[in-house]
Formats: sequence, structure tokens, C-alpha cells
Amino acid sequence: MCREEKKLCMSHLLSKKIYPLCRTDEFEQVAVNTKVMRPTVKQTKAYLLCEACEGNLSKNGERITVPLLSRFGGQFPLYQRLLKKKPIQVTESMSVYAAADNPEIDVPKLVHFGIGIFWKASVHSFGSGSDCHRIDLGEDSEALRLFLRGEALLPNHVALAVAVESGPIHYPAMIDPFPGDNQDFMNYFFYVPGMQMQIYIGDGVRESSSAKYCINVNPIYPILLVPLAKDMRGFMAKHSAAAYKTEKLLNTTAEIEARGMSVKLGD
Ligand SMILES: [Zn+2]
Repeated sequence: MCREEKKLCMSHLLSKKIYPLCRTDEFEQVAVNTKVMRPTVKQTKAYLLCEACEGNLSKNGERITVPLLSRFGGQFPLYQRLLKKKPIQVTESMSVYAAADNPEIDVPKLVHFGIGIFWKASVHSFGSGSDCHRIDLGEDSEALRLFLRGEALLPNHVALAVAVESGPIHYPAMIDPFPGDNQDFMNYFFYVPGMQMQIYIGDGVRESSSAKYCINVNPIYPILLVPLAKDMRGFMAKHSAAAYKTEKLLNTTAEIEARGMSVKLGD
């Protein structure tokens, strides 16, 4: 990120501190992709950044944002902070909150956190088994890098939307940056427990209907409260439909179900 020659640290695509939010002390998290579904302690990381650049991402985004995510047991500080103010718009599908009016929401840190994850995915494969970067942001990857270093503002054709879980189930999962379904712009999303971020890139994005709800475009800094769990579970189910379940996973599943609890992985 600094373009200097330095010793590299092991950098996580999604912050290391999010993993404990996706597992219990007793069971490992389950890694899911199109080919395999397995319990594992492995994390998605790579030698990517120097210590100073890791420190930048931590200080300017992760350290403030990760503690606000949903955790086992029901605590969800981001949700609780949002609800201290009234929404400025309520529709059948969502409530819109103005983070500009909420001193407990640090918008620059939220934006830095999100942009940091999209940027990392745009410059490395993170062990995906291919040499390709996780996502292709083209020349805009460089614009994001400059923003993260505090050397430039986000370009006008980049918009970031933040959505927070409105429902009672806070899906305890992480989804790496992946193409979204917006047809008009380049669009990727990622999910961390209780929060989804989407990036939209393209000419005219600020004038589009989706930009109205983007945190770096609208001066009220909108954050959307929407049901996320079903969509995120559905996304994982769709992409893992043909995945092989390891024996360890089947044994763990059987053990949990023998205790009278239901496990529907990826459902
Ligand atoms: Zn560096």
C-alpha cells in the first residue's frame, strides 16, 4: 500500500478479530466455497502489507468498526447505536438512518474499513488457488489505495453503501468481496456479522438512484437498516449447493443435532 520495500506482515482480507464472531469456543468456523464445506481454523490472509500499512488500516477503520459488529449472545453495538436516533425514512423494506446526526457513529472510520477490504481484494488472490486478484477494480484500485493513505478523496464515480441487519437473526458469517447484482455499475459486496457493504463504481453513479443511499455521497451519511440474514444465507446456499461436505463437518453436524439443535449449513 505504501509502495515501499519493507518486510511484509500477514494481512487478513477481513480483519482477524472478526473470526471469533463467527464461531463458538467449542466449534471451529465453517469455511464454504463452491467446491468444499469444512470446519477449519484457517483464515483468509496473505503476506501483503508492511506493519505501518497494517497499522493504518487498523487505526483508521478496523479498530473502531469491528467492535461494533454483531457478536454471539445478541450484543450488536452498531445496531444499538443507530437506534438511538429516529430514522429519517421508513419504507416497507428498510429504514434509513442519518449517521451525520449520530455522534456515536464514526463515518470516516466505517468508510475506511469498507474501502480497505475492497482494495485488499483488488490487489491479491488471498489463497483462492488462482493468480487472479479476488476482485477486479481496474484502475480504480489505485484511487482506493490513495484514499486509504489519506492522499486523495474517493473519486466521484465511487459510491459505498452500508447496510445493517434489521432482523432478530444476526447471521454470524463472513463473505469475502464478491460481485453484486447491480447491472448499471461495477458492483461488489462483502458481509461481516450484521453488516454488509457494497461498492458501486462507474460514471454517473452519484446521480443514480442507488447513490441516494450511499454513505460517501449523501451528506446525511445514510446507513440502511434492512433484513440481511436471509439474503446472505441464500447467497451462501446458492454458491455452495454443489460443495463437498467433509467428514469432519458431517460429524460435527451430527454431534450438534444430537443435542437437539438444528444445523442447516448454508441454508
Ligand atoms: Zn506499507
